[in-house]
Order: sequence, then C-alpha cells, then structure tokens
Amino acid sequence: MDFDVLERNGWTVRCPYCERNLIYTVIKNHDLPVPFFYAKDANDVLLREKDRLRVEEFYLSLNDRARKLGALEQLWKKILADAPVAPNGGDFDLWSYVKCTNCQTELSYNNGIKDIGQRIFEPEIVVMDQAILLGDSLADSWKVKVKASGLRR
Ligand SMILES: [Zn+2]
Repeated sequence: MDFDVLERNGWTVRCPYCERNLIYTVIKNHDLPVPFFYAKDANDVLLREKDRLRVEEFYLSLNDRARKLGALEQLWKKILADAPVAPNGGDFDLWSYVKCTNCQTELSYNNGIKDIGQRIFEPEIVVMDQAILLGDSLADSWKVKVKASGLRR
C-alpha cells in the first residue's frame, strides 16, 4: 500500500542498545483515553477514530474510576481482537512499543512495568520516523516523516 506522507517536527534520542540516534515525534493523547497500539514487529501505530468514538460513548456512561479501568482494559482487548494486521507485518498488541529503527530492538514501555492504568491513560503516542500511522481507512493513514530539531527538552 502507498501511504501519503505526514510531515511532523520531532526530536532525536539515542538508542540504549546500539547508540545510534533515532528520530521520533509525539502525538498528544489528552482528554479521554484514546486507544492506540504498536505492531509487534514494526513501528506501525493503530490509531482510529472509530475506536476513539467507541471509548467516548462507553467512558461517559461510567463514573467510578476503578470500574472504568477494568472495563476499559476489556474494551482495549476487544479492539485488538478485530484489529487489522500491521502494514509492515505482525499483529498490533497492547504491550508492544517502539523499536529502534537501526538495530530493531524494542524499547521497553514504562521501563518494562506493565501498568494498565498508565497504558490506557498514556498521554503521549511516540511515533518513530517512517512509521505508518494506521487510521480508519487509507485516506486516514499516513507514513510519518519526522524532521528532527535536536534533543527534546
Ligand atoms: Zn538500536
């Protein structure tokens, strides 16, 4: 598939494994939690409007945060169960995270601590240069091209 290019500003970070500089950008994920998932074998990110709407409707109908979290976790898993395969291969997964674009080693999300509350309410979607941002349709999907402007402050 050919994806349109989305240009964004970003930063560089040093890969802790191979020490090469990696280029990435960040999409803010504020307000209501919005489901997003990384591919197991690539940096592709699934970020769909239809999933956001599904959560919005559901979220507003609950008012106890503890109940919300368990219910949201189930919803995240339901979304994954019928998610497409990533364009660059592999399934999308709840705990997959970004991989080094040089040595392919996966960087660990939240220092390897699988905190479901943090994962669901994660305020930042890290997107690596050249990753595919997969939306609802081809028209809403992009190949992300990041222009780095130094280290992030
Ligand atoms: Zn590396």
